[in-house]
Amino acid sequence: MPWGVAAAAENPWPQITSVAAGSPSVIGGPSNGCIRGTSALPETGRGFVRIRRHRNRHHAHPDTLRLVRHLADAMHRRNGRLIMVGDLSQPRGGPMASSHVSHQNGLDVDIWLTLADSPAQAWRSTPEAHDPPGMLDADGRTPNGHWGDDQQFLIRTAAMHPAVDRVIVNPALKQALCRRDGDAPWLRKLRPWWGHDAHVHVRLKCPPDSPDCRQQPAIAPGSGCGAELDWWFSAEARRPAGSATRPADRPALPASCQAVLEGR
Ligand SMILES: [Zn+2]
Repeated sequence: MPWGVAAAAENPWPQITSVAAGSPSVIGGPSNGCIRGTSALPETGRGFVRIRRHRNRHHAHPDTLRLVRHLADAMHRRNGRLIMVGDLSQPRGGPMASSHVSHQNGLDVDIWLTLADSPAQAWRSTPEAHDPPGMLDADGRTPNGHWGDDQQFLIRTAAMHPAVDRVIVNPALKQALCRRDGDAPWLRKLRPWWGHDAHVHVRLKCPPDSPDCRQQPAIAPGSGCGAELDWWFSAEARRPAGSATRPADRPALPASCQAVLEGR
């Protein structure tokens, strides 16, 4: 069943508040998928706090929640502060009403690069219309005073986790990490993209319990720190974002998502 942009108003997935029964099983890809047997991330726990709490986007495959807790634990041990977790997926995945094309199959999570001191402070400082600050100067290519060791630790810890397929991050932040860490193998997992200077988007590999999961093509060998990264600072790459970031139509969902939608 196609969910073209024109049909966004008829998109039934965002209204669903219950999980599709069954053991965890990812169907399809991050930009055209759904999921059974999701778990919900609590509003807060050791080392993390969830912001944007009222969006109905805090469900995911259990592996994704394990990754969140792994990052949260690592930060807790490091300095006692909390990572701020943004969107995961809807209870049954599927297309969202706004903001993203991806996050559909329970394997994507947004992690803000700003840390919090407490849940109350996190919620107070991030009303719906107010994002945590970006990590770049106005020129869009120089890390600013918000960017520090904690942010680099967070990105590195995510990229080094074996369940993580890729971490989508602003090219200027990848460049800063390339300059610091040279040719470390985990740098390969950092995929440059427009935006993503206030939060990173972490995507997991297809889990072994999900034969119908569709994984993105593998990342080319190498750190991606050389010519590939340089392209992002060319005039061609820096034209106004939007033109190349969004496909005109959403790809059709796998047919088996219809049963997930209907709770069969
Ligand atoms: Zn995201």
